[in-house]
Amino acid sequence: MKCSECTSCRFVEYSSGVNRYYCEDQRAAAAVNAGARLICRTQRHSKEIAVKNAPRWCPRKYDK
Ligand code: SF4
Repeated sequence: MKCSECTSCRFVEYSSGVNRYYCEDQRAAAAVNAGARLICRTQRHSKEIAVKNAPRWCPRKYDK
């Protein structure tokens, strides 16, 4: 599973220019706070996702 291809991956633009990607999978959302759902921060003014695949805690990791 790759966050960049996952329907639960949400991009959020911040005025600081450092944007963030969050995981919106129900299992991640139910278990933890917003900081813990953070997949990555981007480079300033970038929309490029900064992870190759998914974080270790990805709730879909073992889904078939
Ligand atoms: S962490 Fe897993 S479930 Fe969440 S967006 Fe990334 S690939 Fe999807």
